[in-house]
Amino acid sequence: MTTWGCARCREPKTPDLACMDCKVVFYCSARCRDEDVSHKDMCYPSVQFEASASITSELFRTPQVQESEARQLVAAGVATGNPRVVSAREVRIDPRNFVTTRLRLDPRKRTSLSFRPDADIRYQISTGALQGTWQVPSQLNILDLLEGIDMFVLIAPGPRMLASLESRRARAQGTPVRDLQAPDLDLIRYAQSIRREEEGDAILYIVEWYPN
Ligand SMILES: [Zn+2]
Ligand SMILES: [Zn+2]
Repeated sequence: MTTWGCARCREPKTPDLACMDCKVVFYCSARCRDEDVSHKDMCYPSVQFEASASITSELFRTPQVQESEARQLVAAGVATGNPRVVSAREVRIDPRNFVTTRLRLDPRKRTSLSFRPDADIRYQISTGALQGTWQVPSQLNILDLLEGIDMFVLIAPGPRMLASLESRRARAQGTPVRDLQAPDLDLIRYAQSIRREEEGDAILYIVEWYPN
């Protein structure tokens, strides 16, 4: 498995020395962590996928789904031959309380993500560091992520969803509306306190597979 080194000096990282805010960037030492000022602009606090108060996901493992997903991977040119699909997962979010979420990929499998093209979200892939550039879903959107690589996918609310959550927070707390580029720790705390009321909108399919 490719594990990425310290985000500052590239020496081997210490697995429990992550940036305390985003938890997707790792360091060799507390010193590198504290002195990495260049990361501050690209640090996006997030909640773990499994701990998000906004997300519900449904896992499909039936042979029918596996076969149809395998055909789609081949048709899209992502896989050749007979890929073996392990699981397909549909991810739903409640747009009222969705904040930046980090999904750790299983490096033993290949993962393909398809975002719903019109979903008001943004994403970026972290392989040891963050690029600071958000991608938006597009029409041709099977994103193929390789196996054997240690990575996170960060998924954040898009501009409309973020603005509406921030104005909701400002009303609830009686404070001014801030112009945020991404949810900060305070907005994440507020959003996580809002109970999910409904199933929400499907935004993403995650397919895990092995090439053949
Ligand atoms: Zn270091
Ligand atoms: Zn960070």
